[in-house]
Amino acid sequence: MRAPVRIWYVAGQRLCNLSCARCVSIGEWAMSNRYDWKNPEDRDVYEQVVTWIGTRPYPVKVRLGTLGEPFASTFFLEKAAWLTRQSGVEYVELLSNAILLPRRLPKLEADANLGKLSLWLTWHDGQVDLERFIKAAAFAQERYGCFVVVNTLLFETNADAVACARDAAVAAGLRFNVDLGYDPTASTTLQDPSAAVPVLQSSDALDTLAALGGNRALAEAALIGLTSCRGMLCRAGHDTAFIDIHGQAYRCSNYSSQEQPPLGSVLDPGFDLPLRPEPWAPCAARGGCGNKEDLQIAAPLRPSTVPSLGWTDA
Ligand code: SF4
Ligand code: SF4
Repeated sequence: MRAPVRIWYVAGQRLCNLSCARCVSIGEWAMSNRYDWKNPEDRDVYEQVVTWIGTRPYPVKVRLGTLGEPFASTFFLEKAAWLTRQSGVEYVELLSNAILLPRRLPKLEADANLGKLSLWLTWHDGQVDLERFIKAAAFAQERYGCFVVVNTLLFETNADAVACARDAAVAAGLRFNVDLGYDPTASTTLQDPSAAVPVLQSSDALDTLAALGGNRALAEAALIGLTSCRGMLCRAGHDTAFIDIHGQAYRCSNYSSQEQPPLGSVLDPGFDLPLRPEPWAPCAARGGCGNKEDLQIAAPLRPSTVPSLGWTDA
């Protein structure tokens, strides 16, 4: 049987129940506190792309991203639930702020295979009460058997808050991850990573990350990819691909944002990914890689068997 393909798709779903100061969805890709889909065609594209993903003749592992909060959108969840029921789909990973899980998961139960649901849950300090967040994450893991990761982002002044989140996650029996927080407004091609990763303005940022339970080696690989990915070997385009909100497929998300040539459109009849047979190939992007998981230098740092694109089991 053919090896699974990892697909990361970002849908045009935008509604979010929070207003984070450093929201990752900006500009053309901005989230909204008012509307779910900016254009009706975004919804149509979403429906078509998810149908395409769920009917591949080979196994797929899916990260289904959005520009907002997926659990705020009934339409989004209906199709995501359908995807979890498709036999070729090994897992569906959603990125969420967790708050709506206790309300939405019981309603999804009848239509979804929640055992295939992987939840990458980011705690947004200042927006969400930590106790409420941890309870929601534990509810998803314990009641429905979802694969849950509690994620935090390390910025200049929130190390104490990240430590509290780590302690609360560990006490609740939840996986915990801390990543370097990015400034989404910074240029992605700058040579100085501290412009895009504000915590690096402190000289001991990586020590702090490691002390908080983060994976230092993976963070170092991430910083190399951010500033100098050009020419580096990575597997994107071999057994992994990215699909943007318009249904265009790319080697990776950075190829999409840098307008590198796409692999084609998922919306074209009969389209399939023209994946590369060789596992590793050099990168042609100008910099700004945020996909450390796919870099050859990071390959020994994470297992490929967990149902999440980001979890390292470190
Ligand atoms: S939860 Fe996510 S999408 Fe919503 S405001 Fe915060 S960062 Fe943006
Ligand atoms: S930008 Fe894309 S192609 Fe380049 S190293 Fe990163 S994942 Fe690979």
